Amino acid sequence: MSETRAIKDYIRTIPDFPIPGVQFRDVTTLFSDPTGFRQAVDALANPFTEDRLTTVAAMDARGFILGGAVAYKLGLPFVPIRKKGKLPGGTIAEAYSLEYGEAIVEIHHDAFDPGARVLLVDDLLATGGTAVAGVKLIERLGGHIVAAAFVVNLPDLGGSARLRELGVEVLTLCD
Ligand code: IMP
Repeated sequence: MSETRAIKDYIRTIPDFPIPGVQFRDVTTLFSDPTGFRQAVDALANPFTEDRLTTVAAMDARGFILGGAVAYKLGLPFVPIRKKGKLPGGTIAEAYSLEYGEAIVEIHHDAFDPGARVLLVDDLLATGGTAVAGVKLIERLGGHIVAAAFVVNLPDLGGSARLRELGVEVLTLCD
């Protein structure tokens, strides 16, 4: 195992991906370091060990890598929120805006029982559009969002403020 470092130090920035001008935060270098990955999963899960949750949900696709590990650590059910057309059972959908155009995410309509206390996990929070769509899906199924947890926050893009305005507790590990 490698020596412990700050979470931020495991994440690299790739310039001009996916389009010129974007500084892409690449968390694959966090995932590929066993010490870093364990640190991140522990930091996302540990605030929620005291019976605060019934369910862990996560956003397609990098959110699944973190959310699955958090659910395993907490011994809770895992629920995927997927891009349109991927879930095989009956679903409900939410559309949200991207810089260019629109995206749609879906959840199985029977993913959890009404009254579930849900932690929503993703790798990165930017404008908050993706996370807000996830929050809406969970609330439409009668779930209560206990918190939304991310490895990286880009606060200048407004997502953390937007979630907090909706009354969602936000946990992030680095900027
Ligand atoms: P938002 O909807 O603007 O908050 O963007 C967050 C979503 O886009 C998350 O699902 C991220 O996985 C993805 N995303 C946006 N920018 C980056 C980045 O720089 N690195 C990794 N994922 C990103």
